[in-house]
Amino acid sequence: MSSIAERLRTVRDRIDRAAEAVGRRPGEVRLVAVSKLQPVEAIREAYAAGVRDFGENYVQELVRKSELLADLEDLRFHLIGHLQTNKAKAIATRVSVVHSLDSVRLVEELGKRLGAVPVPEGRRWSAANGGGFSPSAALAVLIEVNVGGESQKSGCPPEAAAEVLAAIQGQSSLRAVGLMTVPPFFDDPDRSLPYFERLSRLRDEIADRTLLPELSMGMTLDLEQAIRAGATIVRVGTAIFGERPAREAT
Ligand SMILES: *Cc1c(COP(=O)(O)O)cnc(C)c1O
Repeated sequence: MSSIAERLRTVRDRIDRAAEAVGRRPGEVRLVAVSKLQPVEAIREAYAAGVRDFGENYVQELVRKSELLADLEDLRFHLIGHLQTNKAKAIATRVSVVHSLDSVRLVEELGKRLGAVPVPEGRRWSAANGGGFSPSAALAVLIEVNVGGESQKSGCPPEAAAEVLAAIQGQSSLRAVGLMTVPPFFDDPDRSLPYFERLSRLRDEIADRTLLPELSMGMTLDLEQAIRAGATIVRVGTAIFGERPAREAT
């Protein structure tokens, strides 16, 4: 079996080639390594190979890992799974980017509960460390959009994205930086492309690109299609860490 460092090289290669194929600079596309359900040793291995951005789905797991990895001060966690507002305080000082805001209610609750808790300087997603923005103490957030309209998936309907954006702009503890989506699953990744294009068009419909620069889309199977449609962040788990262990009942 190949090591995490070797698999990372393959993933970065895929990203670079996909960007070049559509005339984009490879540096425009950033990798979030999705480490959910993987042990902290795997995160340390990826960190040693240069990864700084890690995606986690479950707040409790993220909090536990952030404590075990507190020595890695420039490691950034991205919350990519659903957020319950009663966990807002727990994420405030541990998370650099939340990808999964999908309702006005959630935005208002999160904004209110975060209040004046600033994101620690070293963990801010900013132009200085790979993000595209001026540093700010407000938490960087993306609006999750359910572009496939699947009833079992989280994410707001495309028609509601503008309203969620306005709600974020009304919260001083949050700053909107882009849109995120998980398209319906297909064995053939080319079938994801129209959904990624839909997210990109939606972004242009509701905001200026300088206001919402990020499109978080594309995973192990379909990162090429996402990059073709304009992804600036791809979230890749399996191709880096291998198959995920099953989630234990909690
Ligand atoms: C698990 C997960 C990923 C990573 O999926 P892989 O297919 O393992 O690359 C990306 N995004 C979200 C929202 C996830 O839940």
